[in-house]
Amino acid sequence: MSTPIDVAVVGAGPAGLATAHLLTAAGCTVRVLESAEEVGGRMRTLRTDGHLIDTGAEMIPSADAYPATWRLIRAMGLDHDPEAIPLVRDALSVWWKGRSHRHAGRPLGLLTGMGLSPSARLDLARLQLDLGRSDPDPEHPERAGTGEATIADLLRTHHPQLRERLLGPLAAGFFGWPAERAAAAPFAAHLASAGSTATWRTYRDGMDTLPRALAARLDVRTGHPVTALAPGPDGVRLDSPRGALTARTAVLAVPAPVAAGLYPDAPAAERAYLAACGYAPMLRLSLMLDAPLSPRGARRGFAHLVPDDPRIGVVTIDHAKHPGRAPRGRGLISLIATPTAARDLMDAPDDEVDRRLLERVERYLPGATARVRGTVTHRFRHGLPLPEAHTMSARPAFVDRPPAAVDYAGDWISSRPCSEGAVASAYTAAERVFAFLTATRAPTPIEAL
Ligand SMILES: Cc1cc2nc3c(=O)[nH]c(=O)nc-3n(C[C@H](O)[C@H](O)[C@H](O)COP(=O)(O)OP(=O)(O)OC[C@H]3O[C@@H](n4cnc5c(N)ncnc54)[C@H](O)[C@@H]3O)c2cc1C
Repeated sequence: MSTPIDVAVVGAGPAGLATAHLLTAAGCTVRVLESAEEVGGRMRTLRTDGHLIDTGAEMIPSADAYPATWRLIRAMGLDHDPEAIPLVRDALSVWWKGRSHRHAGRPLGLLTGMGLSPSARLDLARLQLDLGRSDPDPEHPERAGTGEATIADLLRTHHPQLRERLLGPLAAGFFGWPAERAAAAPFAAHLASAGSTATWRTYRDGMDTLPRALAARLDVRTGHPVTALAPGPDGVRLDSPRGALTARTAVLAVPAPVAAGLYPDAPAAERAYLAACGYAPMLRLSLMLDAPLSPRGARRGFAHLVPDDPRIGVVTIDHAKHPGRAPRGRGLISLIATPTAARDLMDAPDDEVDRRLLERVERYLPGATARVRGTVTHRFRHGLPLPEAHTMSARPAFVDRPPAAVDYAGDWISSRPCSEGAVASAYTAAERVFAFLTATRAPTPIEAL
């Protein structure tokens, strides 16, 4: 009988690949099993007709805000090329009264307006100061002590324009979080930690650059869906139509509802947290255009929040994010559906998604419909973790669980709506798995971790 590998990682998104990288570097034998034909998960990039289409994630902030991600960027040597991760000019704008207002999410916006009244801006500055002073930990939002408060509760005592035109639409548009439902603590921690939008960057060669770099050095099997997993005396058995595999340990680096389905016999505290980790669905429509159009008011701007639209939450001008996203003289834009539209259109045919979202786009980009040369719909049933009060209260017991043969990684572990949450969770998962392996056999050096 062949010796079982040390670790099987399920899922080749950023969490799974980072976990596999760390454990491989620590001397473990690791195999990654991925159901899709390509790696990257919700950070995947499509390469279509000369376009680089980021299907999910769009940007990353600086190393201060995403320390775990930048550690891996440096480990892969991606920082050696100064052009590989360029700044995004005018990363965030807000659509208000017929035009886009630049400089949202950065100090300059407090002066130029962002479509907000002076008193709303003053209140925003106050809120930002308060959040900064409270120093929330994005990896442990449940420690903020805000109890059952929702985003709506957090914003209730603030200027109504913050809820209606900026922070409410931001939570809904980028994370799919309805303010009345989503817990306040992860949102506050994300706002406080993400830094100024003036520091936001993208990967020149597509948002899947880091996952691809990691995967190139690992044993990754794509087209390998795992259908069930069960720990036993010989290790953890992972079933798949591609054949069963037994490994000493397994890491489920898939969205929480998928992990719950694969491992229904998980210990009670794990099952309780998995059940408490819901996800917001996200739907995005990418439009390939025969001209590089931009909304009025922000010619170079990338992401435009559209606060009062029933179907579109954010318009992203991908060719403004980086010119390489579309062939010269052409354009690439994306429409991110509102939480309600994402839910309504998740199972709709592509032509209905096109029709329902294109009906609204003319308001922001006059003439765009006539310029469309192709569309691609991206559907994420598990778009972003949607933390609620019960998610926060189930978390401490999950965090305190002892190391075991089956562990987890993913953005849902800390309810962070971003790839940094996924990568940070990999460091914890790798340490826990390593501790379990060394407790059950002769230790291997951990310096590389
Ligand atoms: C629309 C959108 C915009 C976003 N924008 C940003 C952004 O600008 N910046 C940012 O930092 N983050 C952003 N994010 C979030 C970021 O993409 C995620 O946080 C990150 O990808 C989560 O990584 P993960 O590894 O936990 O999960 P995933 O990326 O979902 O990876 C999980 C992997 O598991 C695989 N899998 C699932 N089931 C199985 C199975 N049974 N067997 C084998 N494999 C399986 C999946 O195919 C997938 O590859 C965005 C997300 C979305 C949806």
